[in-house]
Amino acid sequence: MKQLWAPWRMAYIEEGKNPGCIFCDQPKEKDPRSALILAQTAHTVVMLNKYPYNNGHVLLAPKRHENRLSSLPQEEYRDLSETLRLSVEILRQVYQPGGFNLGMNLGKCAGAGVEEHLHWHVVPRWEGDTNFMPVVGEARVISQHLLDSYDRLQPLFQNAMVSDRG
Ligand SMILES: [Zn+2]
Repeated sequence: MKQLWAPWRMAYIEEGKNPGCIFCDQPKEKDPRSALILAQTAHTVVMLNKYPYNNGHVLLAPKRHENRLSSLPQEEYRDLSETLRLSVEILRQVYQPGGFNLGMNLGKCAGAGVEEHLHWHVVPRWEGDTNFMPVVGEARVISQHLLDSYDRLQPLFQNAMVSDRG
């Protein structure tokens, strides 16, 4: 993967370790939009990455706070995988990228930012996009940009995934 230049990620690094877990805490927020939660299925949460590497950078996590793939019950793993492929299709429709990076970083030494709760990164890629995001590389612009992406994506995710908050 070519390194994308994402200077606003410094804010994330400087924010330091939040004692909570974003994948457990964000879905409980009253306002899903400000929490950037795009959809919830029976066992999976889909959210926009607050510190994206690219336009449409989405995170998918099982609702279960778990850091081993093998510890997920089959049904929850299946739900996660199904949601992953739906998410790729929605992002493909909306952004028409040239490709995607799909990745899961297991463990700190593999680069996991939140190592205790496993999650997929879905990053749309465009030809020459290593120079794409600096255009909007300012924190305030990024937040507006994120909400624009949210408003564009959320209805599609809602449609595609039956919301079941159990
Ligand atoms: Zn968690």
